[in-house]
Amino acid sequence: MGKEGPAHVFHSAAYYETPDAPQMPLKGWKGADLVFDIDADHFDLPCQKQHDSWWCLDCEKNGRGHRPDQCPQCNGTRLKTLKWMCGECLAKSKHEVIKITENFLVPDMGISKNDITIVFSGHRGYHIHAFTPKLHSLGSQERREIVDYISGTGIDFRYHGFVENSYGVPKGPDSRSLGWERKIAEGIRQRFRKPEQLSHIPGLRANQIRTLQQDAKSIYKQLAEEPPRYITPKGVGQKAWYTIAQHVVESYSAVVDEPVTTDIHRLIRLPGSLHGKTGFLVKHLDLAKFDDFDPFNHAQVFSGTATVQISNAPAFTLNGEHYPPMREIKKELPLSAAMLLLCKGVAELVI
Ligand SMILES: [Zn+2]
Ligand SMILES: [Zn+2]
Repeated sequence: MGKEGPAHVFHSAAYYETPDAPQMPLKGWKGADLVFDIDADHFDLPCQKQHDSWWCLDCEKNGRGHRPDQCPQCNGTRLKTLKWMCGECLAKSKHEVIKITENFLVPDMGISKNDITIVFSGHRGYHIHAFTPKLHSLGSQERREIVDYISGTGIDFRYHGFVENSYGVPKGPDSRSLGWERKIAEGIRQRFRKPEQLSHIPGLRANQIRTLQQDAKSIYKQLAEEPPRYITPKGVGQKAWYTIAQHVVESYSAVVDEPVTTDIHRLIRLPGSLHGKTGFLVKHLDLAKFDDFDPFNHAQVFSGTATVQISNAPAFTLNGEHYPPMREIKKELPLSAAMLLLCKGVAELVI
């Protein structure tokens, strides 16, 4: 190793017969943990319009939020970005982790909570590792199916309880079933227990919402029957039920980074190391205490202070201290804050 430490440290999620063999085919792949990457990069959040920015290296154009594929002014593709993170991004990432584990890994895939580890990525999200040996041998294709399942991609409601053009009892998802059918049935029923929720369903017409809300009590009762009855009041047909079901799917499903999960040779950030873009600790988290984890407090490792010359930093909060946006200013800061600005490339150390 050279004089300077590496900015990023990764380990393999795969197991090999001979991990130090010089070429991949000689390593003897034995299997890989099932890994999920949840990163605020994949969400479109209002806060990102505040704290993320991009600028074009070929002209003067710049903007806020996610970077476009090409510069809207000169069509150039040499765009630089400043990606930041805040409580809102991390809370959304945390919410997705909870959805993946509580809605899918544990109930549907039968993975024990003891076999699941959550790791704070050190930046804008979390990694979930499922260590169950039975999953090790899954190939890319099988892992892609798991991603599709969790993200609710390609769900055909006809395979999840709905029967089109049925006569007699109008049939739909039954909560005594398993997997997605059960989630859809429960989600639909919940919306009739609190009918005000029906007004938030995109795709339903105002008159349909009114009818469903007026009849909510009786619809709820019929949905609770065994088997449930999916009645169609005037103006509400099969299509409206599918619209509600789709809304339920979107609320249960989670956003995961597909290439990470499907790569059976994946390198993933090493817990215990520091993230080179923040200086935050990449940290193993206890699933039982996950709710209380606050990366802006609990992933900070530096003490002391440093003086930095700041070029342009958005607002942030670290260790309970709020920092306003700072521009062209020299400041002595707690070392964690100074390190964040240095790692983000928006400050230089003043010696
Ligand atoms: Zn440009
Ligand atoms: Zn944010």
